[in-house]
Amino acid sequence: MSEKILVINTGGTFGMVDGPAGLVPAAGLKVRIEQQLPEFLDRFDLIELEPLIDSSNLLPSHWLRITEAVAQHGQDYTGVIVIHGTDTLAYSASALSFTCGALNLPIVLTGSQKPLEHSGSDAQANITASFELLASVPLAGVYVCFGGYVLQGNRVRKISVQSYQGFDSPNAARLGLSEPSLFMAEGAAPFMGRTFEGALELSDESVATLLVYPGMPAALVEALTSAGCEALILLSYGSGNLPADDRLLMGALERAVEAGVLLVNLTQCATGFVEQGVYEAGSELQRLGALDGYDLTPEAAFARMHYLLAVCENKKAVVAAWPQPLCGEFTVR
Ligand code: ASP
Repeated sequence: MSEKILVINTGGTFGMVDGPAGLVPAAGLKVRIEQQLPEFLDRFDLIELEPLIDSSNLLPSHWLRITEAVAQHGQDYTGVIVIHGTDTLAYSASALSFTCGALNLPIVLTGSQKPLEHSGSDAQANITASFELLASVPLAGVYVCFGGYVLQGNRVRKISVQSYQGFDSPNAARLGLSEPSLFMAEGAAPFMGRTFEGALELSDESVATLLVYPGMPAALVEALTSAGCEALILLSYGSGNLPADDRLLMGALERAVEAGVLLVNLTQCATGFVEQGVYEAGSELQRLGALDGYDLTPEAAFARMHYLLAVCENKKAVVAAWPQPLCGEFTVR
């Protein structure tokens, strides 16, 4: 096995350059990183996704392309750094924690708020931190290294548009800090996913997320049901409440369940966990058989549902699998 690190560039601001209508992904990142950070010369190989993607264009099926790149090439290296756009990094970090479970490799996702060659960019600091983390021979699992924090991949959220501290894990302890130098909390390691070795197939439209808001029309739920959505993650109020007095909305949800749509009750609050049934307004979803969203992030819940729909034989098996964490993505109470 090579002592080197494999870097996979998927696109994103990190490697972007100025285009006529704004920043665009650009190739040739190995040489460009080495120009900026000559100390890493010969310490890594780099492959690039074809085409490179601004992560706001990323689809669930792209997670499998990243997974395949890690699976095909990663085994020859001590670890893998995935350079990713910040917009959907939290989704991909969650998804990879599930799909790369069998690979037994440390995988670090990073990116930056400013492109590598822009003045004052955070790209150098973030990739340096990722190299340092992998040099410390961390346990296998999916990490995010960004803005001075080392975070568990399936617990992260993008928390700031402009700040260099763009990510955090509001509902889980940070694994460590990378600044001023790498410091990992005692026993800190992301959990490695369970083994699933078969070929995965994800259907991009099978899972939807809906932010519950005052006056939300029943037609939204109806449209998703008739569009063939298989699971609907409801970002409910507080401990898992819905506007339960809205009988049209409740009727639409009931019909969705009859049509086979799985409901997940997830709080729209940044911290805390769902407790279905504390309020009458929340017991309605429980009555409809909604799955508990625990303290999952919306990104992890979305990726997890995609993953379970792909690996489980049928929806009944998804329901049975749902309460067991796959790799530390929610707190068991
Ligand atoms: N739109 C960019 C992306 O997600 C933003 C970024 O990388 O920061 O690819």
